[in-house]
Amino acid sequence: MQTKKFIYRFSEGNADMRDLLGGKGANLCEMARLALPVPSGFVITTEACLEYYVQGNQLPGGLWEDIQEHMHELESTMGRKFGSSENPLLVSVRSGAKVSMPGMMDTILNLGINDAVAEGLGRQMGDRRPALDAHRRFLQIFAQVVMGMDSSTFEHILEGHKKEASVELDHQLGPEHLLGVIADYKTAVIETTGAPAPEDPWEQLRQAVKAVFESWNNPRAISYRDHYRIPHDLGTAVTIMAMVFGNVSDDSGTGVLFTRNPSNGEKEVYGEYLPNAQGEDVVAGLRNPLPISSLARSQPQVHRQLTDTAKELERHYRDVQDMEFTVERGRLFMLQTRSAKRTGHAAVKTAIDMVEEGLIATEEALKRVDAEELTQLFVPRFDEKALEMAMTSGARLAQGFGASPGAATAKVVFDATNAVEWANRGEPVILVRPETNPDDIHGIIASVGVVTSRGGVTSHAAVVTRGLGKPCIVGCEELVVDVAGRTLTANGRTIAEGGEISIDGATGEIFADAIPTVQPDLEELEDAQTLLSWADDARRLGVMANADTPADAQQALSMGAEGIGLCRTEHMFFNPPERIPAVQKVLVNAPEAERWAQEHPNLAPSSSNLEQAPARVREFYQALDQLRTLQTEDFTGILRVMGERPVIIRLLDAPLHEFLPRHDELFRRVIELETKGASQEELRPHQEILRLVESLREANPMLGHRGCRLGLSYPTIYEMQVEAIITAAATLVKEGLSVHPEIMIPLTSHVNEMRRMRQRLVPVADRVQQQMDTKVSYKFGTMIELPRACLTAGEIAQEADFFSFGTNDLTQTTYGFSRDDAEGKFLRYYMQEAILPEDPFKTLDAEGMGILIRMAVEQGRRTRPGIEMGICGEHGGDPASVAFCHQVGLDYVSCSPFRVPVARLAAAQAALSES
Ligand code: PEP
Ligand code: MG
Repeated sequence: MQTKKFIYRFSEGNADMRDLLGGKGANLCEMARLALPVPSGFVITTEACLEYYVQGNQLPGGLWEDIQEHMHELESTMGRKFGSSENPLLVSVRSGAKVSMPGMMDTILNLGINDAVAEGLGRQMGDRRPALDAHRRFLQIFAQVVMGMDSSTFEHILEGHKKEASVELDHQLGPEHLLGVIADYKTAVIETTGAPAPEDPWEQLRQAVKAVFESWNNPRAISYRDHYRIPHDLGTAVTIMAMVFGNVSDDSGTGVLFTRNPSNGEKEVYGEYLPNAQGEDVVAGLRNPLPISSLARSQPQVHRQLTDTAKELERHYRDVQDMEFTVERGRLFMLQTRSAKRTGHAAVKTAIDMVEEGLIATEEALKRVDAEELTQLFVPRFDEKALEMAMTSGARLAQGFGASPGAATAKVVFDATNAVEWANRGEPVILVRPETNPDDIHGIIASVGVVTSRGGVTSHAAVVTRGLGKPCIVGCEELVVDVAGRTLTANGRTIAEGGEISIDGATGEIFADAIPTVQPDLEELEDAQTLLSWADDARRLGVMANADTPADAQQALSMGAEGIGLCRTEHMFFNPPERIPAVQKVLVNAPEAERWAQEHPNLAPSSSNLEQAPARVREFYQALDQLRTLQTEDFTGILRVMGERPVIIRLLDAPLHEFLPRHDELFRRVIELETKGASQEELRPHQEILRLVESLREANPMLGHRGCRLGLSYPTIYEMQVEAIITAAATLVKEGLSVHPEIMIPLTSHVNEMRRMRQRLVPVADRVQQQMDTKVSYKFGTMIELPRACLTAGEIAQEADFFSFGTNDLTQTTYGFSRDDAEGKFLRYYMQEAILPEDPFKTLDAEGMGILIRMAVEQGRRTRPGIEMGICGEHGGDPASVAFCHQVGLDYVSCSPFRVPVARLAAAQAALSES
C-alpha cells in the first residue's frame, strides 16, 4: 500500500508546489485559492509518475483506489456521476510538469463517455450535437494518445463527412452526421489497432492516467527537454478535472489570453477566441481563431470578467500570464494560467515596464530575464534598402500574422523530417506547413524560421518559436501549402521544395527572394540598455570581449565591453587572406633564420642589412618586416578604439597545421613535376618547401609546437610582435592618448617558460620605448590553459602580472578530449546518453576543471596579491560558467562581442543570487 500522499485536491495545493503538482496543477490550485472560476478537480503528483517508472510502468500500489475515491468526491461536488447515462460527469486528464513544455505531453478531454453516456449528456445539455461532438473528439484523442494512432486517419474521416454534409466547420455537423463520424472512427480504431477504445469510463481513466505518465517520455518531450536542458528525471503530474464544454452553443467557446503581447512585450491583452469549440482547437491551429476583442462585442460581460481576471492574475503572480479559458453558455471557467513564454525582446520590455509600474523591483527584473535570451535581441532584420527593392520588384508573396520577430532567408521544406535532414547537411531551411503540431518540434528546432497557413498567434508553432527566438508567421491564408506536391503557391507564383524565400516574423511578410539582413546594435535597443545598466550596477565581475580587429573592438565597445580580454594575433594573420603567404614564409623559414641569428648575434634583425644572409633567411626577415608593419597598424587601430581600457594581446599561438601550406598539395605537385620529367632546377624549390613543411609537420598539432613553445624556439617572431605592440602604444601615447596594452604569453606550463619569455621580451619593449622616447604602461602576463599551469600557478605568478584562463585548451587537456574532434565524433552521443550532463566546451566543468581553476586562483593570489585574473575561453559568454567565475572570484570574463550583453546580465544574476 502506498504511504506517500500521491493526490492533492485543488483546495489542498498552491503555486509554490510546482515540483510536486507540476506548473499547471499548482496554478489551478492557486486559482482555486483565489476563488477564481476553476472547475473542480485534483492532481496526481510528479512523485507518483516517477514511482510509476520505478515500478516498470505500473501504477504504484493503492494509487488507483485513491484516484477512484477522489473521483467519487468529485462526483458529489459536481452532483453528477462518472459513467452515468442519466447525469454524467466527464473529466479531462491533463499532463503538466514542473517546467512548462507547451504541447509536448498529452492531455485527454471528454473522458468518461460512450454511446449511452453521450445520449445522457445530450439530454443534460439539452442538445445532442455537442454531446456527440464530445464523443467523437474523445475517440480521436484517446486513440491517438493511448492507442498510438495517427491524427490523419481521423481528420480524413471528418473531412469526408463535412463534405458530404456540405458544411465548412466542425460544429456545423448535425447529430446524424456526427453519429456517422463516430461509427467510422470506431471502425478505424479496430482496423488499425485490432481492438476498440474501452467503453467503460473507469477503464478509460486508468489507461489515460498511464498514458499521460508515459507522455513524459515521448520523443517530442525528450527533444524539447534536450534543447532547453531540462532534466529528464522530473516526471509529469496529472490533473483530473471536471469537463466544461465550449462546444455546446454559440455563446460558448474556448480561448487563450496573454496579459501582454509575448512577441514585442507591449502592454495589451493579446489573445484569441474560438466560439463553439473545445480545448485543443486554438493551440492546434486547425481553425483560425478570432481576436479576443471579438468577445467584447459578442459577450461583453464575459470579456470584462476575463480581462479583470487577467489583471488579477498578473498582479498576483507579478508576471505576464498565459491563460486558457472556456466559456460554457456564457459562464467563464479558467483552465490554466502560467508565466507566458515570450521572446527575449518581450522579456526585457515587460521586466522594465513592470519595474516602472511598481510591480517588481529592479533585482527581480534582472533575475527574470534569461541571460541567454538576450541574444534574441540581436536577431537580424531585413536591410531596409534591399527590402524596398524586394517590395517594388514584386517579390512579395503573401502576408500572415507575425508571431515571432526576426528575418531570415532560407530554402523551403514541407516537413519536419526534411528540415532536420537538410539542416544537418548545413542548409538553412524554413519549415512551411498548413499547421504545425507538437510532433514537428525537431523540425522547428532545426529550421531558421517557420510559416503556417492556418492557426493563430497563440498556436503551438507560435509559442514554440517565440521560446526559441526564431521568426515565425502564422495564419497566412494567402499561401496554399501542398505538402504532398511539395509546393507553396501565392500571389500567382509557385515555389517548390528547396526554393528560397525570405520571411519577416515581425510584419508577417513573405518574399520569393533572398533579402540580405542586418543585425541591430545595442545602441538602438533602449530597453535592453536600461536593463543592462541596472545589471552593471549589480555585478562585481568585469566583462571584456574577445576581438581581433578595430571593427570587432568597436562592436565590443558598443555592446558594453570594458576592455579586450583576448586579441588573438594569429587571427590577424588570416584576415585578410592576402596576409597568409607572409605568415607562411615566416613559419617555414623560421628554423633556419633563428639558427642564423644565433650565429650572427651582432647583425640587427632587419631585412635591410642581410645582404650576406642565405635566401631563406632574407625571405624570413622580409616577411617578418611586412608582418611587423601590418601588426603595428592593427594594434594601433585596436588600442585607439579602446582608449584607456585594457587590451590583452596574446602573442602568436598558431597550431602550425592551420598556417603552413598544405602538405598533400605540395606533395602532389612534386609528384606531378617528377612524372612529367621536370628539370632539377624546376623541381628544387618545390622539393625544398615540401621538405621544410615535412620537418614542421606534427601528428598532434593542438598539443604540439604552438603557443610559447613556438615563441621560445623562434623568439624573433614574438620579438617582432612585442615591437609592434609597444610601437603602436607609444605612437598613441605621443598623440596624447592613455592606452593599456597587456602582453600575454600563451600555453605556459612551466614557470621557466614565462621567465625566459620575460627575459627575452621585456628588453625589446624597453628598447622600443627608448627609441621612441616614450613610456608605455603595459603588463606582462600569461594564459593559464594547461593543468600543469594550474597546479604550479603560485610559481608562474612570480613572472606574470596577470592570468587569463584559456578554458578551451584547459577543457581539452583536463578531459583529454581533442577540441577539434570530440564534438563531431562522440560528444553529441555523450550528451544524448547523459554520460555528461553538459558539453564541457560550452559550459565550464565546475566539478572537475573548476577545481584546477580554484587552485590556480588561490595560489596565484598567494604569490601576488591583487594579480588580475579573468577568463577568455568560450565559456566567458555562457551564463552558468559566468556564475562560476563570479563564485571563484575572478576579476572579469571575456567573450565574443555579441555575447557581452549576456555576460553582463549573467554576472549581475550571479551577484544577486549570492546576496
Ligand atoms: C583557450 O584556449 O581558451 C583560448 C582562449 O585560446 P584559443 O581558443 O585561441 O586556444
Ligand atoms: Mg588556448
